[in-house]
Amino acid sequence: MVHNYNIIFLLLQVRSLVIFGTIKYVPPTQQWYYLSCNTCPKGVIKGDTKCRNDRCKDKDFSSINRFRILIRVQDPTGIIDLILWDMDVVKIFKVTAHDLVDRFIKGVDSEPFPSVVSTLLGKKYAFKIDIKKFNVDRQEKCFGITKFSDDEKIISALEKKFNLDQYLDVT
Ligand SMILES: [Zn+2]
Repeated sequence: MVHNYNIIFLLLQVRSLVIFGTIKYVPPTQQWYYLSCNTCPKGVIKGDTKCRNDRCKDKDFSSINRFRILIRVQDPTGIIDLILWDMDVVKIFKVTAHDLVDRFIKGVDSEPFPSVVSTLLGKKYAFKIDIKKFNVDRQEKCFGITKFSDDEKIISALEKKFNLDQYLDVT
């Protein structure tokens, strides 16, 4: 089942669902990477000596840059803001955030993000997203991506299934 964006906003509830769309915009004001614990994806602040995640409390701590890219995606009913997390971006770019940040900082590039980030624009993907409790509680309409695919067969199948009758679908 593929969901359109309107239904997501009308019925904001905790669940996982599949959507598809074209990446239209990567907001240049949003940083495309963050400083993270090396063991888990939890964000840390420069100078931190430990991770706040309980799972990491007995592990050696170090920090690393990871991708976190906000993308604005469009389907026939609207736009939605999604977050592409590190592992998925590494799969798409075939470079780690650590390496890219290094190259970016050393370079003379004054753009808000490396050119590889703009290669996301115009790409069509199927996304699995998680709507979390905090999304519902805070009416926060920016969702994390848990899986994505650019497989043409999957996308064209989703497009075929997609129709506006889904306004009536509340499952
Ligand atoms: Zn950690």
